[in-house]
Amino acid sequence: MNYTAGQIAEITNAKVIGDKNVMIKNIAFDSRIIYSTKNTAFIAINTGKNSGEKFIESVVDRGINVIISEHQYLQFENINWILVENSIEFLQKLAKYHFENSHLKSIGITGSNGKTILKEWLYQCLWNEFPTVKSPKSFNSQIGLPLSLLQINDSHELGIFEVGISKPNEMHKLEDIFQPQIGLLTHIGTAHLANFGSEEELIDEKIKLFKNSEVIIYNGDNKLVNKKIKDLYLGKKLISYGFKVENQVNFKSNISRDENVVVKYFGEEISFPVHQRDEATLTNALALITVLKELGVENQKIIEKINALKAVEMRLEAIEGQKNNIVINDSFNLDLDSLKTALQFLNEYKKSRKSLVLTDIVGVNSNSKELYEEVSELVNEQNFDSVFLIGSEISNFSDLFKSKTFTFINTQELIDSKHLTEIENQIILLKGARKFEIEKVKDLLELRKHDTVLEINLNALLHNINYHKSLLKPATKMMAMVKANAYGLGSYEISEFLQHHHIDYLGVAFVDEGVELRKKGITVPIVVMNPEQHSYETVIQYNLEPEIYSFRVLELFYEAVQKSGYDKEYPIHIKLETGMHRLGFKEHELNELSQILSKINVRVQSIFSHLSSSDIPTEKEFTVNQLDTFEKNSGYLIEKLGYAPMRHILNSSGITNYTGHQYDMVRIGIGMLGESPNSDIQKQLQSVVSFKTVISQISLVENGESVGYSRRFKADKPTKIATIPVGYADGIPRLIGNEIGNVGINKNLAPIVGSICMDMMMINVDHIPNVKEGDTVTVFNAKPSLKEFAEYCKTITYEVLTSISPRVKRIYVKD
Ligand SMILES: *Cc1c(COP(=O)(O)O)cnc(C)c1O
Repeated sequence: MNYTAGQIAEITNAKVIGDKNVMIKNIAFDSRIIYSTKNTAFIAINTGKNSGEKFIESVVDRGINVIISEHQYLQFENINWILVENSIEFLQKLAKYHFENSHLKSIGITGSNGKTILKEWLYQCLWNEFPTVKSPKSFNSQIGLPLSLLQINDSHELGIFEVGISKPNEMHKLEDIFQPQIGLLTHIGTAHLANFGSEEELIDEKIKLFKNSEVIIYNGDNKLVNKKIKDLYLGKKLISYGFKVENQVNFKSNISRDENVVVKYFGEEISFPVHQRDEATLTNALALITVLKELGVENQKIIEKINALKAVEMRLEAIEGQKNNIVINDSFNLDLDSLKTALQFLNEYKKSRKSLVLTDIVGVNSNSKELYEEVSELVNEQNFDSVFLIGSEISNFSDLFKSKTFTFINTQELIDSKHLTEIENQIILLKGARKFEIEKVKDLLELRKHDTVLEINLNALLHNINYHKSLLKPATKMMAMVKANAYGLGSYEISEFLQHHHIDYLGVAFVDEGVELRKKGITVPIVVMNPEQHSYETVIQYNLEPEIYSFRVLELFYEAVQKSGYDKEYPIHIKLETGMHRLGFKEHELNELSQILSKINVRVQSIFSHLSSSDIPTEKEFTVNQLDTFEKNSGYLIEKLGYAPMRHILNSSGITNYTGHQYDMVRIGIGMLGESPNSDIQKQLQSVVSFKTVISQISLVENGESVGYSRRFKADKPTKIATIPVGYADGIPRLIGNEIGNVGINKNLAPIVGSICMDMMMINVDHIPNVKEGDTVTVFNAKPSLKEFAEYCKTITYEVLTSISPRVKRIYVKD
């Protein structure tokens, strides 16, 4: 979106106090997840139970100066207020207007189960066919849907939105703001049924969404749905899918284990390799195929796309358990349908013995005796060894279960009973309604917690980005460098987080790194700094933007563009050599370069260079020289091109030391991880990375005894020595053994003694009071800091981070 406060007020009948001309491009509703304050308004949503108004102070502190709320608070100065009567109705009105003026092709998904999975699958299949916008996570409610719709911008051609309701009359409001051209009705199940008088009422409410749709694609296996849709929407294009033969899209015959699945789409047969064959997955696959066909995607492409689908955060997670158990955790929701799916899922595993943890089914408005009879029949088919029932309701029906059955009032009682710790070599299914928190059982059964972790604090990362932004002009864009697995921290996880917070660009070193991000759903523009010459086709296929640094690369890349049949101007980035002497066009080449560029069908998206010494105060003169050369040469090229691409030259320390040369964009790297060579800046940043482990064992080494390989440490008095489970295979260089490096315990430093082993090392803890086995050890974070640790290693923080072995588990924390 892109409106002034005045326009927003006019659209929604609200009142502006302050500047009517401030531009608003984003509306933030959660004060904790604000990435950019530029053109961002904060809406204080008032749900009756809860009011966002108590967070106004914190967002004002962060620099937000447009607030949308039901009340004005006079203590804040220089704030532009959009005063609204009702915050939720305001959002809905604005979203309605925005959607109606978007000219987007839209898909609206509703139903009881499968909405989010289908939305994510469709997105994965369609984002590289059309510029696509989708609801984030499962934003589908009275607030979530409007927020999703407000993400639409001019470049989008397709929108995929989830619409969820849980009570009568809710669809009416949502259907008023959003009318999809293609309506998709997944499966109608028992979720939320309790709030409705009958299944019929629930169906009636859901299908209101399709009032203005041109096409309705729906699961026709439910007789009532079939009848209702045909009665109500006779004049529309209706396509039903499902297992029953009456559906226009269904399966050819029995779906056996090893052959491909054959789908019949009207008369046509399409054969697919599908690995997971539970009913829910197969039904979702039918829906997916039907929508793709409706959008004109060819069969061959559909097959490729289905093959490439990644499992969307499957609600069913399989975890390695202790004692050779496999734990299947499905504690997200519990109704009969999801129970069936989970039970089918069990059969994918080869373990012959199995146990079940099952809770009360909540929110279903039916006779509980019938309900639990049905549950017990499903469960009894599976021949579980033991069944653990949690909840007062289901416990009443324990007689219906044929296996050895135990009952508990709550989850804690089961945990305390110790029954679970006796299970060996089984598959254990955890299936529970959310309120029972049976994920606690998962924590209990899971195989070893990782002792050694690299913990990455995403809030701190956001803080650091915002700090650097605060030094820049509001219009300056930011590229985040996520090359080398985002400096070792995990390229996808970091990029996904940055994308969520509206980073403008991502930068990677090699094409593979960009492809991985695309495959996992990252859609922001990605620049590849060093596109290798055999990878140009892939660059184009995955919509990546290459750095072009020489005539050879330009020629080869343009050949690939022509071969690919790409018919628009391909975006490229021109790298200028200004003193680093790594890659780039030199001054004397620019005339010829400009001539070639004006003849070929590419678009120079940006012109850039890189500073070799922006962090070194004594090289200021050299750096200023680089900056001058860049100004001159980029200016020359722009003049010759006849249009002005973006320009950028500053890396992290460039941002802090040469802020005046920010041009249109900056490229942040180590700075977002909280590292700066300048100690004043360093104080403003937060440490993002914490490398931690725990003490495995403490021994008392007597006078004259030695520690470790080659006996390089010998005690000269009785000494307390601790062993920790990290070594050079985890990325700790062996050269910091022998008391060169230290680690931290309870705010003390403990020297590393003797030689570092492959998977372990020993530290001297003699001087540390109360130290015990199991205590946390900080390899680096605060004490020692990453910078100090890098000094032990006689290297720079960058090398320390990128050397941490992949076997160290990365954990991402955010609140
Ligand atoms: C890695 C990289 C950066 C980021 O450098 P930092 O020093 O980590 O800020 C910027 N630009 C280019 C071209 C890079 O390769």
